Amino acid sequence: MAPSEGGESLSGIRYISTRGGGDPTGFQDAVMTGLAPDGGLLIPDSIPDVRDRLEEWSGLSFADLSFEVIRLFSDIPDADLKQIIDRSYSAFRHPEVVPTVPVGGVHVMELFHGPTLAFKDVALQFLGNTFEYILERTGRHLNILAATSGDTGSAAIYSVRGREHIQIFVMHPDGKVAPVQERQMTAVLDENVHNIAIKGTFDDCQRIMKSIFEDLDFKRKYSLGAVNSVNWARVLAQIVYYFYSGLRTMKVTGASRVRFAVPTGNFGDILAGWYALRMGLPVSHLVLATNENDILARFFETGEYSLGTVYHTLSPSMDIQVASNFERYLYCRVGQDPEKISAMMQQFRETGKLAVELAEGEEVDPVFIPGVGRREDILEVIRRYHDEFNYVLDPHTAVGVHVAEQHLNPDEPMICLSTAHPAKFSAAITEATGAEVHHRILDGLLQAETRCTTLPNDVQAVRAFVVEHGQVSR
Ligand SMILES: *Cc1c(COP(=O)(O)O)cnc(C)c1O
Repeated sequence: MAPSEGGESLSGIRYISTRGGGDPTGFQDAVMTGLAPDGGLLIPDSIPDVRDRLEEWSGLSFADLSFEVIRLFSDIPDADLKQIIDRSYSAFRHPEVVPTVPVGGVHVMELFHGPTLAFKDVALQFLGNTFEYILERTGRHLNILAATSGDTGSAAIYSVRGREHIQIFVMHPDGKVAPVQERQMTAVLDENVHNIAIKGTFDDCQRIMKSIFEDLDFKRKYSLGAVNSVNWARVLAQIVYYFYSGLRTMKVTGASRVRFAVPTGNFGDILAGWYALRMGLPVSHLVLATNENDILARFFETGEYSLGTVYHTLSPSMDIQVASNFERYLYCRVGQDPEKISAMMQQFRETGKLAVELAEGEEVDPVFIPGVGRREDILEVIRRYHDEFNYVLDPHTAVGVHVAEQHLNPDEPMICLSTAHPAKFSAAITEATGAEVHHRILDGLLQAETRCTTLPNDVQAVRAFVVEHGQVSR
């Protein structure tokens, strides 16, 4: 892609840290930085009001709508941004990219038509192309280091495979990732993709990653980058599908408001919905659905955010206790006060607990409707949708649908975000329905050639591997 000089760049939005440190930065810097240097999260310093554009936006294709939404927050010239977006969404297998289909009493927004069959592709495809665009212009290199227990690793790998300026190193615990998900990673043979099986657990992988990132000299010398969900570009790309599906569903049904139900782990996906609402999309409620790992549901019930134990569930991509994007929401909830946020987050680190003050009878936030989908609920929902509507929900989506069904309103269509193709989690489907689900992409992987390096559970070994295979910017 030839970078264009100058060109239009609409947005005056700057990015600031929730903890108040550092100077405001532009979009491209925010994307490269990921986490703010003071440990806070980067957020836009203002939110555009798009209410007078909704009519016009309701007729746009997904790629064109992405362009309109993203340019409001970005400093990439229009012509370049258009190319980045077109490239990102041509990798999807559905002409609508993210189609919404009515099933039973809800509308299912299918976010799984990307290369790895999960919703993370929507944002990571955009992030990968944005990284490459920025690196091409600066002539620099990036070495991405990630740890995964399954889903995120493959979406990250597919977002940067074959890129000239990027090497990616993805650690997974040896023998402890579901076979299909392991193959989705290791069957990618591009030279810039390095799968590392660590002789240890997922926690060991995370510990190694953290320890390498904490060596700031090493991090600088090897331009280490992260692709985790705190990157603002990921939230931004996800805002688009709330508009796309919301506007279409209102058009089709004649409704003037919608609700969304979102299966939630790191609070990244639902945060994007909350931004869409604040920009002016007519959303009455966001149904926040968790599995047994219910820290977020408990927060919106009680105002207290407190760590519990991590349960292994049928929806493993939501088996999370500390929701890394929650701070972005909390910042607004406590009156955009960085000092207060810093103090609250420190308290949380020390005690595993924080709380917002509530007046007598006050709700935490009437927009969010919290709820929990447990193992037996999920199996029941998957079975019922299969038997009654001939539609197979993946277990993450089923968590959202289960909670959504308790909050239906005839005047406000309920849009349930479907975050993965059911074939990725076929064991749960078989347990619920007795049937098997397949997807040709996943079936094809069983015969594919794979490449992976096994390393001991040791920081030095991983660091040496990165030194050997990483690229250094001149
Ligand atoms: C990551 C993931 C989620 C949770 O998304 P968050 O942004 O972390 O809330 C839900 N379902 C699937 C399939 C996922 O991969």
